[in-house]
Amino acid sequence: MGKRLKEIALGTGLAVLALAVVFGLDLSMLVLPLSLLALGAMMLGARGGFAARFSPAKLGPVEGSSVPQVTFAQIGGQEMAKRELVEALMFLKESARTRQLGIRPLKGVLLVGPPGTGKTLMAKAAANYTASVFLAASGSQFVQMYAGVGASRVRQLFKQARTQAEREKKSSAIIFIDEIDVLGAKRGTNASHLEYDQTLNELLTQMDGVDSEGDVQVLVVGATNRMDLLDPALLRPGRFDRIVQVDLPDKAGRLHILNIHAAGKPLAADVCLEQIAAETHGFSGAHLENLLNEAAISALRAGRQEVTQADLREAVEKVMLGEKSSRLLQKEERERVAYHEVGHAAMSELVRPGSVASITIVSRNRALGYIRQASQDDQYLYTKDELLQAIQVCVAGAVMEEIAFGQRSTGAANDIEQAVNLAKRMVFAGLSPLGIVSSDLPAAELNAAVVQIIQEQEEEVRKTLSARVEVVQRIAAHLLRQETMGGDEFRLLLAAKQAS
Ligand code: ATP
Repeated sequence: MGKRLKEIALGTGLAVLALAVVFGLDLSMLVLPLSLLALGAMMLGARGGFAARFSPAKLGPVEGSSVPQVTFAQIGGQEMAKRELVEALMFLKESARTRQLGIRPLKGVLLVGPPGTGKTLMAKAAANYTASVFLAASGSQFVQMYAGVGASRVRQLFKQARTQAEREKKSSAIIFIDEIDVLGAKRGTNASHLEYDQTLNELLTQMDGVDSEGDVQVLVVGATNRMDLLDPALLRPGRFDRIVQVDLPDKAGRLHILNIHAAGKPLAADVCLEQIAAETHGFSGAHLENLLNEAAISALRAGRQEVTQADLREAVEKVMLGEKSSRLLQKEERERVAYHEVGHAAMSELVRPGSVASITIVSRNRALGYIRQASQDDQYLYTKDELLQAIQVCVAGAVMEEIAFGQRSTGAANDIEQAVNLAKRMVFAGLSPLGIVSSDLPAAELNAAVVQIIQEQEEEVRKTLSARVEVVQRIAAHLLRQETMGGDEFRLLLAAKQAS
């Protein structure tokens, strides 16, 4: 409609000008007013463009619901974190008592931990526990190229939290900001820092409650795995002054999470989740949930009604190393891979009996074969002997190739990298022949120490495996036939052949 009007006005104007020329009118006196009009129109047009680009900022898809259904009971393996969070929620749960005691309300809780450990779940459970309205956004949703947009999004989010709580007659709201490091990084560190800084300043202002109106208590729960990036102003008392560590679960935690996600899935009688928990060191809650899902898919593919232990084992490998690859190896390559893996497994079993969980020569992603070791959970300190043994297991694959085929291959590159890292760890822990060293040890000296450690261990492994060539040969032949072998089967073969 507006466009039509503009066209009519323009058309009429041109017609009037044309008539004026035809009737010989002097137009020079019209030049200035017309120029001013044109300039005004241009400015109006420009303002129109400006307004369109910077129209009242929309926050995009903010996840907003009333009170989430997630409870703390549905979160496994985070007992300490749950306890700390519940303690911090006291002021929302018992606001009358805390107010009476003059306790300053908590403004922010920061959940720190690796991805997939349940930080979002914790924030939702916190909202459920305190019957608070829950709004979730991600740090990256706030920061745009244009200055001012992020700040207005922050204001909008806080406003939305308050109005939604009022509408639903709730006394509190929880705002969850995932990846808070994107929006809360140290000021002045970002390339387009003006926008980042303004957004962060607005968050600080909102958290300080400058704009607080009404009775709704707003708690901000932030999540990050890079706390070191955060601006110190965010962490000072009165802002995110409660920091809750949400770490990867230990074995008991993994079992708890597996049990939670196994509910509703029909498990066969042979399933031992405890064993799966023992074999999944380093898995997050999200990995474990995915593992059970993959196991159920594998049962479905096989046309079974129940999920078996074999489905779970297969799923562990899939989650750890990816989908099986369709790559076809040449006969010699397969043999080399089999000897390499049996070399690793034999050494692992010799230095730590019971440590092999499985061996396979089925390739997945970049791995042509691999052994999975049953994890030793919760070990934070390693002795010199333990580190040397770990180096022996790393180099055993390459040494076995050398014994069986006369030379090594590129397949050992990853193993060597791991062995080097372990050796460096020894050097800097003062466990190498160099004794205590400073962190600025010259590279040549470090290299010489690392090479010496690894070569000595290779020599040890060469002696050990050379004395067991026949056993390794037979197990490798067995592995070539059946491609995958469980730890128990491997131990039986190793013990039987050793005894014979
Ligand atoms: P990110 O940092 O990547 O956002 P996050 O720590 O917020 O991850 P969540 O989104 O809470 O992780 O978890 C993803 C999924 O993983 C959950 O929906 C749940 O299925 C599962 N999960 C993660 N941790 C746990 C846990 N501790 N207990 C039960 N399930 C979990």
